[in-house]
Amino acid sequence: MDQSLLDSLRVVALPTKTNFRGINLREVALFKGEYGWAEFSPFLEYKDAECAPWLACAIEAATQPRPHLFRSNVKVNGTIPALNGAAEITKIVELFPGVSSFKIKVGENLELDLARIQQVRSLRPDSAIRVDVNGAWSVDEATSFLQSAGEIEYIEQPCATVEELRELKKRTDVKIVGDEILRKAVDPFALDLNGAVDILMLKVQPLGGINRTHALINHHKLPVVVSSALESAIGIDYGLVLAGSIEKLEYGCGLATGFLLSQDVAHLPIKDGQMAISSPEPDFAGLEVSAERFEWWKNRIMRTAELL
Ligand SMILES: [Mg+2]
Repeated sequence: MDQSLLDSLRVVALPTKTNFRGINLREVALFKGEYGWAEFSPFLEYKDAECAPWLACAIEAATQPRPHLFRSNVKVNGTIPALNGAAEITKIVELFPGVSSFKIKVGENLELDLARIQQVRSLRPDSAIRVDVNGAWSVDEATSFLQSAGEIEYIEQPCATVEELRELKKRTDVKIVGDEILRKAVDPFALDLNGAVDILMLKVQPLGGINRTHALINHHKLPVVVSSALESAIGIDYGLVLAGSIEKLEYGCGLATGFLLSQDVAHLPIKDGQMAISSPEPDFAGLEVSAERFEWWKNRIMRTAELL
């Protein structure tokens, strides 16, 4: 990794509006290269080996020209964390103006999951509902959820393994999206997703960048949806570039998670349910971490770079 990238390193801590996967403060590292700002932001608990594709992506974003774009605005979905309580869910739904689909986190408690879905439906009756289970369910649990949940646009990673997804697929017509199965795989090119997954969830950092993600799309030949990992506006913008570079993009993308942050390095608005690719210039004011946290991230990057 080029020293000039490390010399440009800034690390920020972004407060969240609501608890999202146990996080109330999202730390991300940003550095700048010839082609602009790039984000490296694996979650804090990830081991170095799992961070390697995230760093490969950030280096690509900083040092490679952007791909050909088929669109400059990308349709997005609203993202609803696993929250309960009418007031809090209403507050989150209102963060996403004009979107035509909501992705709702489920999997911890069936009764609360169904209540959360019902509330989003009642607030936005015209929106499609998709759910993300993060692999939490058995085939039977996923089946009974789908029997009681009403119309679901797709179900993301209902079960953890390919075998379970294949078994579930025999029991339901609801489309199954593979997320962790792809991004946590030692070799995502070696997976046989036949009869198990209908749609690929693509997240640009864990999949190692735009070029490698296109190679995966070409390899698996499945419809795709682009999503994100609670990134800052810099990482989100790179996800928007990935979405813009995919010729066939049928589904709204999970790239509006910046609205779950109460502060960010730039503001990327939603207009008519879409977000624009914008190459934002980050504003670090009041967001940078302590010297100790900066050193932690710098060391993490240098260790991870050894693995590339
Ligand atoms: Mg997911």
